[in-house]
Amino acid sequence: MSSLLTERVAVVTGGASGIGRATALAFARHGADVVVADRRPAPDGVDPTHEVVERETDRRARFVDCDVTDLGDVEHALDTAEALGGVDVFVNNAGVFERADDFFAATPEDYAAVMRVNAMAPYFCAQRAAVRMTGEGGSIVNVSSLNGIVGNGKSVAYSASKGAVRLLTYALAHRLGREGIRVNAIHPGAIETPMTEPVDRAVTDRFVEHVPSGRVGRPDDVAGVAVFLASDLAAYVTGESVVVDGGYASTGGLTQSFEAYPEPTERDWRR
Ligand code: NAD
Repeated sequence: MSSLLTERVAVVTGGASGIGRATALAFARHGADVVVADRRPAPDGVDPTHEVVERETDRRARFVDCDVTDLGDVEHALDTAEALGGVDVFVNNAGVFERADDFFAATPEDYAAVMRVNAMAPYFCAQRAAVRMTGEGGSIVNVSSLNGIVGNGKSVAYSASKGAVRLLTYALAHRLGREGIRVNAIHPGAIETPMTEPVDRAVTDRFVEHVPSGRVGRPDDVAGVAVFLASDLAAYVTGESVVVDGGYASTGGLTQSFEAYPEPTERDWRR
């Protein structure tokens, strides 16, 4: 437990599962009260995030049944945060991946469904949250993706939506800077969550071959960065993208595996 986020209230959309759940828990461990805004309290067989927060920390947590595409639901989540003391941090984390991943088969409806949740909702959630933060300042953290940095032909609509989140972040950092509101994006690589469960193990293993850290990510790897961006440690950080992918994006174009490198000789090390 630290006091990095003491006396802050954070809303985490999609906080019932995966990265959002880890983020809500990490925020509470660092002193914040949290509102978990999701369409469900938890995936099947898992204790709801807000219950775990209240059991494992001394912070307050509330669940709000919230579809991020419904502005009435979003206002309800923000009202709940106000009742806890205010809206200091808003994490646009809710996202969908499953539809429109075949470019030639996707319909306009498929595309719109992805964009509504992944790109349009963060815009309006940020708008509604910023209204509540004005005067006090705050931090908005948008969860984009590695696919918001590099295009992925296997998930074209998803990539388009996450690229939109990246530029939304930069534009909002500009628009809201004078209001004392910082806006940053996190771009996770492959993170083990219910969203990536259906991904074939062999596909993940091939990907990991090109990840310098040598493993897939865990939700906590992303949550730690969200804590940093939400806190005063990042007081002069806005309009920034933090890639959390074990080093893949900046080195992943390399097609050779690590085994292909020759062992360093004594002379190489001395140089
Ligand atoms: P997840 O499926 O475990 O959690 C996503 C949560 O969002 C779920 O609890 C779901 O109910 C909620 N959600 C979906 N649509 C919603 C809506 N309309 N309103 C409210 N809640 C909604 O997935 P995750 O892996 O934790 O993903 C979290 C975010 O991270 C997403 O934006 C995703 O695109 C992004 N991301 C994930 C990975 C990864 O490898 N897991 C990589 C890059 C980016």
